[in-house]
Amino acid sequence: SHFAGDDSGTLTPRQTPGMFYSKAKPTPVAKPSLLAWSDELAHMLGIAKPTDQQDIDILGGNHVTESMYPYAACYAGHQFGNWAGQLGDGRAITLGEWEAPDGKTWELQLKGAGLTPYSRRADGRAVLRSSVREYLMSEAMHYLGVPTTRALSLVSTGEPVLRDMFYNGNAAYEPGAIVMRVAPSFLRFGNFEMLNARKEIDNLRQLVDWTINRYYPHITGDNKVIDWFKEVVDRTARLMVEWMRVGFVHGVMNTDNMSILGLAIDYGPYSFVDDYDPDFTPNTTDLPGRRYAFGKQPSVGYWNLGALAGALLPLADKDQLVATLETFKDVYWTEYYGMMGRKLGLDQVSQIDRDLISQFEKVLAEIKPDMTIFYQLLIDLPLAVDSEEEVAAYFKQALYNDLTAEQKTILYTLISHYLDRLNTNTIKRSDSQDMMRKANPRFVLRNYLLHQAIEGLEKGDDTLFVKLQAAMKEPYTTKFDEFFQTRPDWASAKAGCSML
Ligand code: AMP
Ligand code: MG
Ligand code: MG
Repeated sequence: SHFAGDDSGTLTPRQTPGMFYSKAKPTPVAKPSLLAWSDELAHMLGIAKPTDQQDIDILGGNHVTESMYPYAACYAGHQFGNWAGQLGDGRAITLGEWEAPDGKTWELQLKGAGLTPYSRRADGRAVLRSSVREYLMSEAMHYLGVPTTRALSLVSTGEPVLRDMFYNGNAAYEPGAIVMRVAPSFLRFGNFEMLNARKEIDNLRQLVDWTINRYYPHITGDNKVIDWFKEVVDRTARLMVEWMRVGFVHGVMNTDNMSILGLAIDYGPYSFVDDYDPDFTPNTTDLPGRRYAFGKQPSVGYWNLGALAGALLPLADKDQLVATLETFKDVYWTEYYGMMGRKLGLDQVSQIDRDLISQFEKVLAEIKPDMTIFYQLLIDLPLAVDSEEEVAAYFKQALYNDLTAEQKTILYTLISHYLDRLNTNTIKRSDSQDMMRKANPRFVLRNYLLHQAIEGLEKGDDTLFVKLQAAMKEPYTTKFDEFFQTRPDWASAKAGCSML
């Protein structure tokens, strides 16, 4: 990189004005050992699976090759709606850029590789629990078809890491781990916000120009900042639609966790929704505000784009920035209804269909069936239903609670309207069902499955971990129907998954 870097090489936590990054070497760990490797990603990158300890040492941060240029990026951000100032990569260290056989370049980054100047009061490390979650979920999202950063390897460090267990308030040691993350770039909204906040306008312009040249090379001309911002708006809106499609709740949509490429980035306290609940947040620190709840994600995406627009003010006309930001709603709703049309197997989405879709949202929020199972059952819905009891019985497999009489009525009404609509489809029923099978995942990495897989791994049993790795690669098939069931009662805590 030709950007200004802080070269002092010391790890004292500090502000780094004028800098885009600081040099930061990974801190070696006791005993790096390979727990998982993404064969298909490795193949795409043209990287061979590590066979000896020296290769594994690279993945654990114990060996830095001569061609690597390890650094931690400096960024800022809005956290939970408040300006947080400088943050930066506190535990992620980029090793450099890798050119794949197809000529595309990828940023390779170790997460949990030790202290950087941006570690603030934390330890620069990651525990096995959070690393397994990031490794599996980023790959799972890729196979679901959602734009995302990826994960090449998962390495255990052989070192304990101290963490506060916020379930019970006690501190405990957990096994440490390191994930190698892969993305075209890990640049966030926060990288741009930081330069504006520091009034480093030349640096801001340099970073914007570089980002456009590098990742949006088709954008040229006099109005390129606005044209580029428009594309970031579009990509972010589409990402939100994809999260709503699969029922993904990110949990920490701070602007430092918003990718400038429109990728899902930074897998922390995320969860899929099990029972359909727009108010669900998996993040215990997001209570009681529920800023990052499932149903609020699109509006938070818009809010975050507003923060990015603010950072770009020195480079573009304010009215144009605002007007571009305001296109978010149009893009989002157009894409959203298109997506819902595919989930429901509709040949097109008219204004009346939009009302039907709203009715689906209302009834789902009222009945709170398992989202994944509900849509799967919808695919094979009989084309005629006779009674409320029959409909309730048909969807029983997706329910967490017995339906009240009133709930049976609204579900029956919804399904009747839906069947009427399906009757007007100009496409074949089988084509409509194919469309639904592509839009509705049958397997999602539920939080309790991750929890069980991690418990197993901590005891040295990787059976479930290995099985989930296979299942996540084919989320639209029936191959892994052993997991096609509602969340068990013991796992029904509404919030409180592992985050750090
Ligand atoms: P997050 O909420 O995961 O996006 O993290 C917010 C900020 O805290 C980022 O700057 C992270 O790099 C930093 N951070 C989180 N965990 C650690 C850790 N264990 N050590 C150092 N920095 C951390
Ligand atoms: Mg982050
Ligand atoms: Mg994080």
